[in-house]
Amino acid sequence: MTAVLPEARPIGTAGESYAVTLRAVSKRYGAGPLGLALDRIDLAIPAGQFLCLVGASGCGKSTLLNLVSGLDTPSAGEIGVTSRPTLMFQEHALLPWLSAVDNVALPMRLAGLPKPERQEKAAEYLRSVHLGDVLHKRPHELSGGMRQRVAIARTLATESKVLLMDEPFGALDAMTRDLLHDELESLWQARGLTILFVTHNVREAVRLGDRVVLLSSRPGRVVADFPVGLPRPRSFSDPDVTAASGEITAALRKEVARHAQH
Ligand code: ADP
Ligand code: MG
Repeated sequence: MTAVLPEARPIGTAGESYAVTLRAVSKRYGAGPLGLALDRIDLAIPAGQFLCLVGASGCGKSTLLNLVSGLDTPSAGEIGVTSRPTLMFQEHALLPWLSAVDNVALPMRLAGLPKPERQEKAAEYLRSVHLGDVLHKRPHELSGGMRQRVAIARTLATESKVLLMDEPFGALDAMTRDLLHDELESLWQARGLTILFVTHNVREAVRLGDRVVLLSSRPGRVVADFPVGLPRPRSFSDPDVTAASGEITAALRKEVARHAQH
C-alpha cells in the first residue's frame, strides 16, 4: 500500500518526482451505496513508472482514468498531475475519412502547428510504431493491430509524458497484442513516459507493469499494490510472469471476498 502521499501538484509544476497523485479520491454517480463508484483512492505514481491497474468489470477503472485525465471531476479528494495526461481508449476512435498520417497530425493541427511540420512529425511518430509504409492509408484499409498502432502514434503526438491507457489491447489477437506489448515497452523506455494502464487481464498487467494495483469490486478501493521485479523484456508466456500472475489473482480473489463481507 502507498504509505505516505506527496502533496497534490497543479499542472505545470516542474521537478516533481511524482507524475500523478490521488488523495482520498471518491466518485459518486448517484445516491446510496450503489451510487459510489470509487471510494477514497490513494495512489501516487512516480514519474517514469509503468503502473497497471487491475480489477473486475465495473469496479471503476475507466472512471479513475477519466478523473485523472480531467474529463470528469472527483466527488471528493484531490488529484495532482505534473503535466497534462493523454487518454487513449480501447476503441481506436480514429477518423475514418482521414489517412493514418492525418489522424496522427490531428492533435498538432488542433494545437496550431503549421501543416508541413505536423505532417513530418506525424510520419515520424508512425515510423516509431513501424507504420512508415502505410502513412496514407485510411483506417478501413488497416488491420486492427495497425489501427491500434495509429492510435498509439496519435497519443504520442500530443507530446504528453503521461499516458492513460484504457484496455487498449483488449480486442486484439494474441500475436498482435504481444507485438504491441513489446512496442509499447520500447516507447515507454525510450521516451521516459509515465503510463497508467488499465486492464482486467492480470497476466497482461504483470507483463507490462513495474507495479500492479488491484481495485476491489464496486465501490472501487485499492486492495493491494504489488511491485513487479521481473527483468525486462518479459514475455506474456514467461513462467515467472505466470507465477506472479497466479499470486496476484489469488490475492485479488481473497481481498475482494474480504471486502464483500464489510
Ligand atoms: P470499469 O472500467 O472498471 O469496468 P467503470 O469505471 O466504467 O468500470 O464503471 C464503474 C461503475 O460506475 C459502474 O457500475 C458503472 O455502471 C458506473 N458508471 C460509470 N460511468 C457512469 C456514468 N457516467 N453515470 C453513472 N454511472 C456510471
Ligand atoms: Mg472500463
